[in-house]
Amino acid sequence: MFDTLKSRIFQGNQFIKDIKNAPMRDQFRGFPILKEGVEVCDESVCPTGALKTNPLTIDMGKCTFCGACQKISPLQGRGCHEVTGEGSAVTFTNGYKLASTDRDKLIVTPQSNYEDYVKSAVEVKKEIVKMFGHSLKLRQVSAAGCNGCEMELNACSNVNFDMGRFGIDFVASPRHADGIVITGPISKHMAYALEDCYKSVPNPKLVILCGACAISGGVFQNSTELNREFLDKYPIDLYIPGCPVHPLTFINGVLSYISK
Ligand code: SF4
Ligand code: SF4
Repeated sequence: MFDTLKSRIFQGNQFIKDIKNAPMRDQFRGFPILKEGVEVCDESVCPTGALKTNPLTIDMGKCTFCGACQKISPLQGRGCHEVTGEGSAVTFTNGYKLASTDRDKLIVTPQSNYEDYVKSAVEVKKEIVKMFGHSLKLRQVSAAGCNGCEMELNACSNVNFDMGRFGIDFVASPRHADGIVITGPISKHMAYALEDCYKSVPNPKLVILCGACAISGGVFQNSTELNREFLDKYPIDLYIPGCPVHPLTFINGVLSYISK
């Protein structure tokens, strides 16, 4: 007993107390900042077509946050450059609150800024807060994900992020769930299982797309082995960008949707 108490005092609190304002390391690539007046910007550096240059935009629903567009090539043929040639036209901040209820809002322009995005990206609905604000049970469906997003979602429930303290948990059965979280680009082989799982969740239910693959197909978007008809058939409640999605991005995204 004494040893347990000693160990508890020695270890202190392991969970992040203020999850809504948790610090993020500087190297993390989050919300992008775009500068107007780009002289050279080669879309072909982008593996997913997230980067568009005329006009300059980045679609966070497609972006893998690989950073290729941020790098400045000495050959001036790759990446993005300002007219002056100094610095990059694209920089990534460590802003991790990237979730949105509106797919179109994931498209960042030179006029976008992180503070305004965080304030307006998630539309809070009274009925959702009332229904799920105190308890939200989710069934995760990996629809051909690479296991990157899935591992990060697992981490959401660990002692550090401790998502369960907010009443948000992953459950084993869709019958016990209030909604589904989809990762992966939705392969033909997973299309039936995904729809079956969705139908097994009682109404009312939420659908959350987690990661570039689920939102847009990501790096697999041109594969002939995908069947994304599910997304045309059923309403999507929340889009959470990333590749993979960081636990802080996921938890803050869901919290912003279900809390006042
Ligand atoms: S960071 Fe995003 S926009 Fe830039 S090249 Fe990579 S995927 Fe494309
Ligand atoms: S979004 Fe990235 S990390 Fe997530 S499943 Fe797709 S490839 Fe993997």
